[in-house]
Amino acid sequence: MNEQLALAVRRRTDDLVALTSDLIRFPTVNPPGDAYTPCCEYIARRLKAKGFATQFVRGTGAPGDSDRYPRTNVIARREGRSPGATVHFNSHIDVVEAGEGWTVDPYAAVVKDGKVFGRGACDMKGGLAASIIAAEAFLEIYPDFPGAIEISGTADEESGGYGGVAYLAGKGFFSKPRVDHVIIPEPLNKDRICLGHRGVWWAEIETRGAIAHGAMPFLGDSAIRHMGALLHAFEEELFPALDAKETRMPVVPEGARRSTMNINSVHGGQTEDFFPGLPSPNVADSCRMVIDRRFLIEEDISQVKGEVVSILERLKRERPKFDYSMRDLMEVLPLMTEEDAPVPSAIAAGIREVFGKEPEYVISPGTYDQKHISRIGHLHDCVAYGPGILDLAHQPDEWVGIEDMVQSATVMAMSLDVLLRGAAPPR
Ligand SMILES: [Zn+2]
Repeated sequence: MNEQLALAVRRRTDDLVALTSDLIRFPTVNPPGDAYTPCCEYIARRLKAKGFATQFVRGTGAPGDSDRYPRTNVIARREGRSPGATVHFNSHIDVVEAGEGWTVDPYAAVVKDGKVFGRGACDMKGGLAASIIAAEAFLEIYPDFPGAIEISGTADEESGGYGGVAYLAGKGFFSKPRVDHVIIPEPLNKDRICLGHRGVWWAEIETRGAIAHGAMPFLGDSAIRHMGALLHAFEEELFPALDAKETRMPVVPEGARRSTMNINSVHGGQTEDFFPGLPSPNVADSCRMVIDRRFLIEEDISQVKGEVVSILERLKRERPKFDYSMRDLMEVLPLMTEEDAPVPSAIAAGIREVFGKEPEYVISPGTYDQKHISRIGHLHDCVAYGPGILDLAHQPDEWVGIEDMVQSATVMAMSLDVLLRGAAPPR
């Protein structure tokens, strides 16, 4: 155990709590994307005082970007004494809305029972604070380190990351030679390493019919009945088939360790907005459905789409006048960094030291900003690792444990030691 480094982190416990609390007090709610600029300025001020060069980058033109709600990002970089690798800690600063059911003020950062409460405490201002403390402790003990450390606070992860990590990756902020290793302190629990996520395919399917008077439906063709046939086929064939597909990906929770599909919405028929309470008098000539299909590393996206298309094509052969169109809304390929890559190996070494046990390797059921770093930045040595209990994210009375943050920051500081100074990972 690198006691010096561990102590340097622990000495900063009060500072860690204060930093987390300050970050929670910025109501960086997305949508709409509030308070990004003051939050980034706060992070920049803090890191500038520790010798970091700081830079603000606005995700100009990204969804939601406006002068009222600029998609502000901050990137801070601290050069070492000599050339070497760069380790980057990336945290999103946005949080989801507080919602109902809180027993404390979600933006007051109440500290009690060894926890800091607030919207974003767990997802992921506690993780951001832990990474800053880890870097500061490392700098105190090893001021002459080789390489560089970067810390970023980025916009919009909760809405896809387009004004945040995706935008920055497009500008080269997440590519070699600038950066070699990335740690995303998302709340995956302090002794777990998240290697990646399942794939995503969102699509809109429209069935079409012919409009007619509702009293004479035989003169038309109901798009809703066509959609019903599709839903029936999904129930009978697709859902059981998806449920049978198991993966070697260690997805948590375990229920997500297979293919899944959600039907996000179905909208058919004429609008009822003009006549509140009165039903539409027509046969529906259009019905639209949005599906959210999550797929596995063992599946190919063309095969995933093919399963749905083959059902649609069969219905077209079987049902008179059945017609449809399909439009892709989003595609994200599944990601899984190998366990023996440098970043997961370094974090694993830290977990062994701090907790005296092997790390648990997990895969997230949903995606996060790692997708942009991999796909746009072509940087693959990236994992999510941070304090906080995943299940608390987006919930009322969200909290992060103070001891969890300290331990997790210690693991991060030790990872810096391995990745930058080449400290031998203990076995
Ligand atoms: Zn998050």
